[in-house]
This record gives sequence, structure tokens and C-alpha cells, in this order.
Amino acid sequence: MSYIKLIKIFKIKILSFFLFIFINNAFAVQQSDKIKPEIFNINTDKFLKLKNEGKPIIARKWMVVTANQQASKVAAKILSKGGTAVDAMISAQLVLGLVEPESSGLGGGAFLVYFNSSTNKITTLDGRETAPLNVDEKMFQDPNGKAIKFFDAVVGGKSVGTPGTPALLENAHKKWGKIKWSILFEDAIELADKGFVVSKKLSSSIQKNQKSLSKFKRTKNYFLPNNEPLKAGIILKNKNYAKTLKELAKNGSKPFYQGSIGDEIIDTVQNAKINPGVLDQKDLLNYSVIEREPSCIVYRKYKVCGMGPPSSGAITVNQILGMIENFNVSKLGPYNPETWRIIGDASRLAFADRSIYIADDDFISVPTRELTNKTYLQNRAKNLNSLKKIENIKPGNFEDKLSQNFTDDISIELPSTSHISIVDVYGNALSMTTTIENGFGSRLMTKGGFLLNNELTDFSFKTYKNNKRIANSIEPGKRPRSSMAPTIILKDKKPIYILGSPGGSNIIGYVVNAIISLIDWKQDAQRAASTAHAINKFGTYYIEKNTHLVKLQKSLKKMNFEVKLRNFSSGLNIIHIDKNLYGGSDHRREGIAIGE
Ligand code: GLU
Repeated sequence: MSYIKLIKIFKIKILSFFLFIFINNAFAVQQSDKIKPEIFNINTDKFLKLKNEGKPIIARKWMVVTANQQASKVAAKILSKGGTAVDAMISAQLVLGLVEPESSGLGGGAFLVYFNSSTNKITTLDGRETAPLNVDEKMFQDPNGKAIKFFDAVVGGKSVGTPGTPALLENAHKKWGKIKWSILFEDAIELADKGFVVSKKLSSSIQKNQKSLSKFKRTKNYFLPNNEPLKAGIILKNKNYAKTLKELAKNGSKPFYQGSIGDEIIDTVQNAKINPGVLDQKDLLNYSVIEREPSCIVYRKYKVCGMGPPSSGAITVNQILGMIENFNVSKLGPYNPETWRIIGDASRLAFADRSIYIADDDFISVPTRELTNKTYLQNRAKNLNSLKKIENIKPGNFEDKLSQNFTDDISIELPSTSHISIVDVYGNALSMTTTIENGFGSRLMTKGGFLLNNELTDFSFKTYKNNKRIANSIEPGKRPRSSMAPTIILKDKKPIYILGSPGGSNIIGYVVNAIISLIDWKQDAQRAASTAHAINKFGTYYIEKNTHLVKLQKSLKKMNFEVKLRNFSSGLNIIHIDKNLYGGSDHRREGIAIGE
């Protein structure tokens, strides 16, 4: 065959390829407009069975992993009809706000990491809650300037930051959505109107929080009707939430930030019986989603990318990986105390930097590049060349990079939250961690049928330490430092792993453990999601009860670590993209992967 002929054939092939993509996309849009509101009739038994057997879900075209079956199902329906990862995420988030209201929802905030397959670019969206303009820096202190007790601050209106989730959904949809906005609301509306099955997790969370949930009439009536916590398995309706969703479906996020839904939020916060807050109309009006550069590091030929400040998630994960990279944890393996000495102390070194340098970058100049610089991390890793635990952990010295004289403080972060991982038929990948902070947030429910966050308690309660301002102290318009670490990992410029987890500041350790399981120990997505945890942030080594790691206690103690056993409540949701898509969801939670 002549060269000319070959080139001709090649040209035709390329042209038909693009034609195919074009038709395919156009078809997807047309089809998507016709999606019917019935709940996707997918049988989840086989997916659950595989999860219970510890096996990954395998699919070819698309996959979604969320913390709840109902949410995964509606997202699966959207994906199966040609919706993008963002379309599916929106429908899942709206359902999560109904079926897992204790963890995330319209009254909260989220961070989204998105790989766009048409540009091969990763973008991050910051939909973090924001401190109202009228906050007082002493609001979480007693008259003597001492920090008040954590839960005294959580419950009520004071802890409520301006919610970011509705704006983030809308912003992401405008950028990367394909299916009509209102259609994405249909399943959630139907579930709220006709009722959904109360899950075991929701029921037991209500049980554990009975006292605080009973403090506000509306919250109590919904979660504890007749003074009894809702039981698992019953059908529950949330007509108020359905009404809110109908309003947003019709008018976008406007009624939330500039209308009746917003007025109800403000009324709930300002007139809270306990700790009335200062959130008002101008805070809602001023709210904006911020597009930020991802924070990435190359770890053993993989590029690990996540959410930069105001989250400490990606920087801290990347610092830990950057130090661990100097050791062969693949050869040492998961059962070796040496492996865990390295991981634990690398984490302590990273948390020392986190405490002092990471907060909202729009208020202090976080030295993000310097903190994740490979040479810096190689030097930091020299501290790990020892047979024992590091006795004296100090942060690296970047004082000159700070915009003021800042210092550290340990903010209290307890676990709740939810994570969503999605790959769509177009090859887009999405990783989003979404929260209302504490379980049931501030415990305040609006007339609109959703809970309000307590995200402001992620700020340090104190403002100064040794006459230096604390980096993560509260200021008007500032976003509290987070630990959420939605992550996308690339290999040869294409996504290979999508993951994230709830869990307060333990999120960082959960995500690191999963990444090492996937990359160094070559575990599949389900095994990595259920990997045993050992977490060391500030000195004490916490080891997960009833796992193989318990056996390491003695050796770690010999290395001078103080060791304690405990349970962990990670909720890792992972997708691995290889020849097929492989999904895994943490056995510790109710999450489920669905794919086709
Ligand atoms: N508010 C926490 C954060 O942003 C998340 C809460 C959690 O995961 O429990 O880091």
C-alpha cells in the first residue's frame, strides 16, 4: 500500500472518530432532556454483595461511589443517560441532603476536584462556608479570653457559616453540566415528597445525638417525632425539603442567596434559642465559589492532586507522601512496624507544618509551594532515618513567607461529612468531599427542611498565642481551615485513582493510607477503601481495633510511641481506572459503588 493511500485512510479514520464523538455528545444532550422522574430501577443487591465479600465493583463505562445507596442510584441513573460527572454529583448531593442529612447538605460546604477530559486539566472549586462579616474574634471565648467548650460552641446559630454547597452545585453545573438543571432535582424531590427509607446510620446517629437534637423544636419534631429517634427501615417524608428543592430547581441558587430560602436561614440563625448568630443577608449575597489551582505532588510517577487552602487536605497529604517516597514501603509491606514508624512520624512532621502555616490563603499567605517542594520534603524526611520515634517535632521554617507573625493552634475537628467519587462516560473524573461539619451540624433546621452547618468551629477558638496571631483564627469573610482531601491521582496525565473520605482531621491519614495501599501495596479499590488504619498526628499512635495492626503495638511501643487502640469511622470511596473501572466503598460505612 502506498504512503498516500495510508495517509488517506488515516485521515478518514480520524474524521470519523471526531464525528462519532460529536454525534455521541449531541445524542447525550437530547436524550438527557427526556429523563423521566421515576427512581432508577436498578437492583443494588449484586453491588452490595460484592462489597460485603470485600470485592471491587467492576464496570466499563461509568461509575459512582457515594455514602448511601439511594444517592448512588440516582447518580447512576444520570450517568447511564449520558450525564456528566457533575450532573451525577448534583443529583447525588441533593439526595444525600435528604437521606444522610447528618453529614452534608444545602446548609453546608464542599470542595470539588474535577478532571476535565476535554482539556486534560484539573480544576478545584472551593465552596467552603465563610465567616459572616459581623463575627467577633472573641465569639468562642469566655469573658476571660479562654476558649469555650467545643460543644457549647457547636450547637446554635453562632457556629453557622455562610453555606457554599448550593452555589458550588450551580457553578459546577454551569461549567461542566450537560443535563438540564431542573431534571437533576427530580429524584430528590420525589424521594422527599413520597418518602425514603431511614438508614441504620441515620437512625443510630439520631440516637447518639438525642440530647442536642432535642434542643430545637423543628429539629426535634423531624428527627425525634413523639420523643423517639427515627427507626431504621421506616419511610420518612420531608415535604419542606421537597419545597426547597422545587424552588431551587426552578430558579437556581438565587432564592437561597437572595430570596425566601435565605430569609429563612437568617431567621433560624439570628433567632436561635441557643447561641443566636450574626449571619445576615449581605453574607449570603456576597457568597462566591472560588476556583483555585489544585495542590499536586508527584509520588512515585503518579501525580497526586487535591484541594489547596483553605483546606489543609492536599498539602498535608502531599507532604506526608513526599517524605514517605524516600523509603521503600512497598518492600517493607503493610505488616511491618518500620512501615508504620515512617508513616506515623511523616504525618507528625506534616501536622506540625499544618498547624502553623495552613489557613485561608486569602487572609494569610500560605507557603503552599515551599511546603510541598521535593527538596524540602527530602530534607524533612532525613528526620525519619532513625530506629525510634522522633522525640522533638518542629515545623519547618517558613516564617518569612507568612504575611504576619502567625502561630499554631490545634482546632478541634470531629468526624462526620461525606465523600463522592465519579467517573462519567466521557472520561471526566470528580472527587468531592461535602460537609455540614459535626454530625447534624449546628442542630438548627430551617423551615426549608435542611440542617445548617457549624463550620465556624473549624476555626481556632483562640485568636492569639504568645502574642502572635493564630493563623486559623476567625475573621470576617474568612474560610475556616479544613482537612477535607478530595483527591484525583494521574498517571501519564490521565486519572487513575479518585478518592476521598470523611473523618475530621483524620481524613488526611485515611487518604494517605489508601493511597499507599493502592500505589505501594497494589491493593484493589475495595481493599484500599477498607484498609486498616493507624493514625498519628500529634504524638499518640492510634491503632484500629480488631485489625492486623493491633499486633504492631509492642514494636511501636519499643520505638517509644505511646499507643492507643480505637475504632475509626473513615468512609473512603474509591474508583480505580484501568482497563475497566473498579470501585470500592469503606466497609465501615453504608456507601456503595455502582457502575455499568
Ligand atoms: N469540618 C471538617 C473539615 O472541613 C470536616 C468534618 C469531618 O469530616 O468530620 O475538615
